[in-house]
Amino acid sequence: MERERFYQLLGKALDTPKRWVVISHLNPDGDAIGSSLAFSQFLQKLGHEVSVMVPNAFPGFLAWMPGADGILLYDKDTPRCQQLLAEADWLALLDFNSPSRAGAMQDTLNQLNINRILIDHHRDPDESPYYCVRSETEVSSTSELVAEIILQAGESYLDESIATNALVGIVTDTGSFSHSVFGPQVFSICAKLIEHAASYNQIHQLVYDTFSEDRLRLLGFAIGHKMEVLDDYSTAIISLDKRELESFHYQIGDTEGIVNYPLSMKKIKMAVLVTERQGVIRFSFRSKGSFSVHALAQAHFNGGGHVNAAGGTLNCSMEEALEKLHRLLPEYQALLNQG
Ligand code: 5GP
Ligand code: MN
Repeated sequence: MERERFYQLLGKALDTPKRWVVISHLNPDGDAIGSSLAFSQFLQKLGHEVSVMVPNAFPGFLAWMPGADGILLYDKDTPRCQQLLAEADWLALLDFNSPSRAGAMQDTLNQLNINRILIDHHRDPDESPYYCVRSETEVSSTSELVAEIILQAGESYLDESIATNALVGIVTDTGSFSHSVFGPQVFSICAKLIEHAASYNQIHQLVYDTFSEDRLRLLGFAIGHKMEVLDDYSTAIISLDKRELESFHYQIGDTEGIVNYPLSMKKIKMAVLVTERQGVIRFSFRSKGSFSVHALAQAHFNGGGHVNAAGGTLNCSMEEALEKLHRLLPEYQALLNQG
């Protein structure tokens, strides 16, 4: 949808106060939480009634974010969430565009016959179910789009909470501006956000310098003992099964970031983290350059994402999951060793 058309339609949607539910994706990350909170706080400023809902818990290092304590977890509070959804006038879906990413909320969302808005930066959005859509892949994050929307309405809408939440989303989705920076625009937007946020240094510390000792030792174990480097495929794979995670007293968020470390080797083009979670195997893919982990995740791992960062899941054992990954690599060898 054209940007101008989006703003026209959004203007109409925001015209009169309504009941909104703002929703983001399963296993929410900094951008999911940051964009949802920033957008919901903007809606509140315009006089709307807003609930923020995600399918399941988010990492503890995001719990300090302004407004995070009010986020409803669908798996923990299902009846209340269903009631709010049933009473809502409008839905805003942020940071995802495929229904399966709503997890257990998917069926309930499918049954709702209300207006929807989509704000996202993933590939191939199906625009048909939405009243209006702001979707671009060449932006750092959904939080950047939300900040752009708020700035478009007027800088006076930015306050410390909104600016902080949007900054967290941008910082986490770019790995502290180490990737997914497509041009100067993200820095222009961040400059505005930093004018209004508490302190950039403090935000960075609150997100990144909060490891438990177990989490740091898990990282050491993952790299020191579990990283398999496959030179023929410019690939590194780290796997962590349930028993290994439990031995480091795994908490949600503890494996966040591990997948990025192998890419710091010059020779590595793709890094994969494979973890065992509540009966499913989760894949986290990262790449450098043109190799599309989105294509790989979509074709073989029931997932997707972006060219350089994607995820997926398989319902199988860890052994079968690793076997499948190894079996596929020869098919991608030429692409992996390119450039
Ligand atoms: P992560 O590896 O950090 O979990 O995810 C990396 C990127 O891939 C994120 O942008 C996320 O939205 C996307 N992603 C992760 N898991 C899935 C999945 O199961 N399906 C789809 N379509 N995208 C995913
Ligand atoms: Mn995102």
